[in-house]
Amino acid sequence: MVDMIVVGAGAAGLIASITAARAGQKVTLLEQNNKIGKKILVSGNGKCNIDNKYISSNRFHGQNPEFIEMVLEGYDFNVVEKFFTSIGLEIIEGKEGKMFPLSLQASSVVELLEYEAKKAGVQILCDCAVTSISKGGDTFTLETSLGNKKCEKLLLASGSPAAPQLGGSNSGYAFATRMGHSLIPRHPSLVQLCSDETWVKECTGVKVAGLAQLYANGEYITEKKGDLLFTNYGISGLAILDLSREVSTRLADYDFCELNLDLMPEFSKEKLINLLLNHIDNTSEKPIRLWLHGIINKKLIPVILAQSKCKVLAEKELNRKEIGKLVYAIKNLKLSINDTKGFKGAEVATGGVNTTEVNPQTMESKLVPNLYFAGEILDVDGDRGGFNFHFAWVSGLRVGNNV
Ligand SMILES: Cc1cc2nc3c(=O)[nH]c(=O)nc-3n(C[C@H](O)[C@H](O)[C@H](O)COP(=O)(O)OP(=O)(O)OC[C@H]3O[C@@H](n4cnc5c(N)ncnc54)[C@H](O)[C@@H]3O)c2cc1C
Repeated sequence: MVDMIVVGAGAAGLIASITAARAGQKVTLLEQNNKIGKKILVSGNGKCNIDNKYISSNRFHGQNPEFIEMVLEGYDFNVVEKFFTSIGLEIIEGKEGKMFPLSLQASSVVELLEYEAKKAGVQILCDCAVTSISKGGDTFTLETSLGNKKCEKLLLASGSPAAPQLGGSNSGYAFATRMGHSLIPRHPSLVQLCSDETWVKECTGVKVAGLAQLYANGEYITEKKGDLLFTNYGISGLAILDLSREVSTRLADYDFCELNLDLMPEFSKEKLINLLLNHIDNTSEKPIRLWLHGIINKKLIPVILAQSKCKVLAEKELNRKEIGKLVYAIKNLKLSINDTKGFKGAEVATGGVNTTEVNPQTMESKLVPNLYFAGEILDVDGDRGGFNFHFAWVSGLRVGNNV
């Protein structure tokens, strides 16, 4: 019997274990994978976008915004930085407030956390999958692949089903519901989008700095600016990942969503019309397809011509009306989205344990004394840019500081 068992050696479980052990708790940390921190290791393309300097509650999502605000209050980036400095990790700033370890190596984050956990006396057991939990009196009993374990306090930091190849799993939700908690529906987020339109396949590999507007059931939802990357399954790129939360939740209700892609957002409609008009040689027999090569990626030209319904064949036949049709298609290319790449392609999951049932100061369950939650298992997900780790770190710190 130990004071505390932590299920899941990800960001939230590791920081909570260290903080609780430093405060004098006897902690055992159980991880089903053969090593700890697998998601940290791959994060930020191996560089680990460990946090964001500009923490604000509007960068986080969930059905209970007050809970998110209360968890974040007094737990900004400086608190996380102080913790990492205390374990010997220097942090530097990248673009848009994204923070990284100075080494730019995610492995340095995991190795320092592991060293610190062991130094604080945390017992780490890898290849230890928890299969069920129960509570009798004041004691939790966990059935695991390494036998039964008992504890007085239990932290579920077992994450979400996102990225099952890295340990993403639903098991924490099953344990939470077994203990009487309710769940908010889970959907993949920060995920690539699928389309069954054939033209995207022809454009595989094309990347443009664009703007994507999302419509569902004919209604405008939101828009994001950034890279648009056409792929053999649909579309990816930073603007698409940023939109994906909204797409994923809408696809639960509708068969498809529609993207309106502006391939040249830096040009207003008028500016682009004038550019194209000035580009015309009224004596040229140049085929329209080739004429557009000077303006836009050639793989995109067939779809722009098809969607614009431009009838003109040669450059010399172009006029303001036909140019207007081309410009409309360049700035309003339609792409129907019928799916996402699912949890396998997702960085995070929306939804999770209902946060109205959790105390935001301590992260303790309001239903079961001495049961705690931290990280992505909860109905909180963040924007791309270090916000998901921020929530994992600070919710874990809150547990460690309060057990
Ligand atoms: C490819 C990728 C890149 C990412 N990059 C970034 C980034 O740069 N910045 C950022 O902020 N966020 C990033 N994220 C998101 C971030 O990794 C997560 O939000 C964060 O790891 C959540 O931490 P957690 O501790 O709650 O859960 P996790 O890190 O998922 O940890 C949960 C752990 O619990 C273990 N577990 C689950 N069930 C059991 C069980 N029954 N028994 C024992 N162990 C169990 C799992 O194996 C896992 O190790 C990325 C995610 C992915 C997939």
